[in-house]
Amino acid sequence: MLTIPWKAGAGWGAPEIKPYGPFALDPSSTVLHYAQTIFEGMKAYKDANGDIRIFRPDMNMKRMNTSARRIALPTFDGEALLELIKDLVRLDQHWIPTETGHSLYIRPSLIGTQKAIGVGPPNEALLFVILSPVGPYYPNGFKPVALYGTTEYVRASPGGTGAYKLGVNYAPGILPQQHAAQLGYAQNLWLHGPEHYITEVGTMNMFVVFRTDDGGYELVTPPLDGMILPGVTRDSVLTLARDHLTQKTPVAGLPPKLTVSERPVTMQEVKAAAQAGKIVEMFGAGTAAVISPVDRIGYLGEDILIPTGEGGMGPIARAVWTELVGRQTGAIPHEWSVVV
Ligand SMILES: *Cc1c(COP(=O)(O)O)cnc(C)c1O
Repeated sequence: MLTIPWKAGAGWGAPEIKPYGPFALDPSSTVLHYAQTIFEGMKAYKDANGDIRIFRPDMNMKRMNTSARRIALPTFDGEALLELIKDLVRLDQHWIPTETGHSLYIRPSLIGTQKAIGVGPPNEALLFVILSPVGPYYPNGFKPVALYGTTEYVRASPGGTGAYKLGVNYAPGILPQQHAAQLGYAQNLWLHGPEHYITEVGTMNMFVVFRTDDGGYELVTPPLDGMILPGVTRDSVLTLARDHLTQKTPVAGLPPKLTVSERPVTMQEVKAAAQAGKIVEMFGAGTAAVISPVDRIGYLGEDILIPTGEGGMGPIARAVWTELVGRQTGAIPHEWSVVV
């Protein structure tokens, strides 16, 4: 693991790469009381030539600094941290699985370690990075998930912290997740306001594909309004769809008649479109699953059925997934994939 200590006044100390193991923390450490903790998640792949690749890590470094700033943890030089992460991954490269769909998960984290009970910016902090090999999310083909349209809990609110990857955003989601599981659903579909705007699914960004009246498609995701986590996968889906439309980088399998929208979507719109046969598919997007198709949404006591296409994934999601995974693993050469 990689550790880098920080102290007010002195700044960042010497980075160290050492064997994975427990930390000794003072019981009054602020992270243990006030959730002064942020994290990131990315994956390293080994390509067909044996080269190690990380997907758009600059985005994760930027987002981690944005998160740090939001909870008054120290910010850092993202390019310098990325170089240290590359050193760590190179050293541990024998842990990167080479089977298709497998990767090495990279978890950077930053915690406040001030040794005094008191709510304020910490005078000490610790940045650390740990790694773990991970298998494919869907080892036996895509398995669409059922979502519970959650109206009794909220994940984020205007002016809140939903747009940042802070530890404090995740513990409160566990009970609602258990509630959804008891009702037979895999994940919470987080809704906002009396209109029940769709925000996110579990810890993924949400996409809806509508059939348009002119025989084309509209790919919709909610806008970054301060409640939505700005996912790297979300941005990648939007960017590759837009670059396909301008013919900058055509994506195999994506239709030419496609509108890409960042706009609010309500459950009412989804329900009406589903009943009118105008939903093509819905899917979550995030680093862990990449793309996660949805086949059903429990909403106010009834189930809304969502088409999933052949093999568990609809036509737009399949084209996007194939292109994304190709770029991540190096099978499709692209500047987003950084060779370590
Ligand atoms: C991490 C995360 C995502 C996905 O972000 P990626 O950068 O694509 O992995 C989406 N929503 C939430 C709440 C998250 O924590």
